Amino acid sequence: MKLISICVPMYNEGENIYAFYEQINQTLEPLYPKYNFEFLFINDGSVDDSLDRVRELRKKDERVKFIDLSRNYGKEVAMAAGFDYAKGDAVITMDADLQHPPHTIFEMIKYWEEGYQDVYGKRNERKGESWFKKKASETYYKILRKFSKIPVLSGVGDYRLLDRVCIEGIKKLRESQRYTKGLYMWVGYRKKEVFFDAEERFAGETKWKFSSLVGLAIDGITSNSTFPLRISTFLGLLISFISFIYMLVVLISTLVFGNPIPGYPTLVILILFLGGFQLLSLGILGEYLGKIFMETKDRPLYFIQSYNDEYPMNEEDHK
Ligand code: UDP
Ligand code: MG
Repeated sequence: MKLISICVPMYNEGENIYAFYEQINQTLEPLYPKYNFEFLFINDGSVDDSLDRVRELRKKDERVKFIDLSRNYGKEVAMAAGFDYAKGDAVITMDADLQHPPHTIFEMIKYWEEGYQDVYGKRNERKGESWFKKKASETYYKILRKFSKIPVLSGVGDYRLLDRVCIEGIKKLRESQRYTKGLYMWVGYRKKEVFFDAEERFAGETKWKFSSLVGLAIDGITSNSTFPLRISTFLGLLISFISFIYMLVVLISTLVFGNPIPGYPTLVILILFLGGFQLLSLGILGEYLGKIFMETKDRPLYFIQSYNDEYPMNEEDHK
C-alpha cells in the first residue's frame, strides 16, 4: 500500500480547517485501501485557533499530523518543513483555503502511476482576480522565463504531486531565500500538467499583500538568474559608446564651428538619466548582496515547537 502525504501549510486558517478536512477526506474515500494518506498540517505561526482545530481532528483520526513551527516563517519555508516531515511515497501540497479542488488528486495519482514524478496543477482561469493582476502575472512569468532559463510556468502554483525522488531533491536545497516554484523546476524529473479550476477562498482573506508579491517576484528572478547583473554591463557599454560619439560631435562643433555653449537641457537629462541608472544598478547589486548575506549566515530554515505535540525533532535529521 502506497502512502501519500497531503501537505497543508496554514497561517490563520481556523475557519477553513474543518471544511478542508471534510472535503478532502470525502473525496479521497474511494482511493482506500489502495492508497493510504497522511494529512500533514504545517502550522506557520497562526495566531488563531487553526492548531486547536487540527488537534481536534487528530483525536479522531490518526492520519492527521502536524508540525508546529516556532513562528510565522512564510509559506515557502512552511512548505520546506512539510517536505522534511512528510513520509509519503508521494507528497501533495495544497492550500488550506479550499482553492485547490481535491478531486484533481485522482488525475494526479493516475499520472504518478504512469511514471510521472512531478504532476502539477495549472489553473484554468482565476476567479475573482482583476485584469491587471492577471496581466501583471503573465508578463512577470514571461520575463522570468527569459532571464532564468528555468521554465517556470504561469498559472502553476503549489498544487502538485511530487514523487519521493523530487522531495529528496528539494530537501537538499536549503537556501533560505526560497522560491519554491523555481526549485521544482530546478530538480527536474518527469513532469506532467493537469488542469484545475481555482475556486474562491472558502473563508478568511489572502495572506499576500501587494508588496510581498513584488518581493516574491524579485526573489523569483534573483534566485534563479544572474542576468540582471548583466543589464548594467550591457547598458553601461551602450551608454559609453553613445557618449563617445556625442563627445566627438561636441568637440568638432566647438572646434570647427565655434558654437557657443548650448546644452542646459542635455545636461539635466544626462544627469537625471545616469543618476537613475546608477541607482538602479546599485539596487540590483544590493539584491544579490542581500541574498549572499542571508545565505552566508547559514541558519536553519526554521525551528519547530513540536511534531504532533510530541517531541521537537532535530533539523539535522532531515538534511
Ligand atoms: N500561508 C502560510 N504562511 C504564510 C502565508 C500563507 O502557510 O505566511 C498558507 C495559507 O494558510 C494557505 C496558503 O499558504 O494555506 C496560501 O495562502 P493564501 O491563500 O493566502 O495565498 P493565495 O491563495 O492568495 O495565493
Ligand atoms: Mg488562497
